[in-house]
Amino acid sequence: MMTGEWIDVSAPLYNGMVHWPGDAPFERALTLSLDRGDECNLSELSTTAHIGTHMDAPSHFVAGGHTIDRMPLTAGIGPARVIAIEDQKVIRIEEVERHRLQKGDRVLFKTINSARAWATDQFQENFVHIPEPTANYLARCGVQTVGVDYLSVGGYRTDGAGTHRALLGAGIWIIEGLKLREVEPGDYELICLPLKMVGAEGAPARAVLRRVPSK
Ligand SMILES: [Zn+2]
Repeated sequence: MMTGEWIDVSAPLYNGMVHWPGDAPFERALTLSLDRGDECNLSELSTTAHIGTHMDAPSHFVAGGHTIDRMPLTAGIGPARVIAIEDQKVIRIEEVERHRLQKGDRVLFKTINSARAWATDQFQENFVHIPEPTANYLARCGVQTVGVDYLSVGGYRTDGAGTHRALLGAGIWIIEGLKLREVEPGDYELICLPLKMVGAEGAPARAVLRRVPSK
């Protein structure tokens, strides 16, 4: 199989888009506007660092952990595996272990979230997430990067802090908010680069994938 076209797996950013409950919404306003007779269009932004497709740095849950500007570029650039998850509630160890994850792997989980949760601007509480035991399993595998297709690796009511701590405490970099609907499971090349915000615990990112021949 030939190397494929780049596929954009980033969430578009727009006013009224979904955001984590209690977190700051995405708001873009024009401070200058050609339509209003100004000499250019100029946008002002207000939002959470965890809007849309974004990455979490260890310092999100680990005191003294690396901040997003310290991310090794290899956490976001390199070979990545897109793994399809059948379970519509949680990502279970039993479904993950058959893929024999290796140390250093970048793994992106494609769940029903990509088709269902992203279909609306309303926050979906029951999105498929990584329970803490699976997070600990991923840490034992020694993977480098874990990506999920909704706004958090953990659940809304359960596994939030525990799952983040298990992954981030193991030095795993997290990509949240991927849109994987157009992506078949398999081997890819990943480029995901969060904004270099000094001292921040996370940042919005653009993420793209390109199919590569399976090993
Ligand atoms: Zn986050």
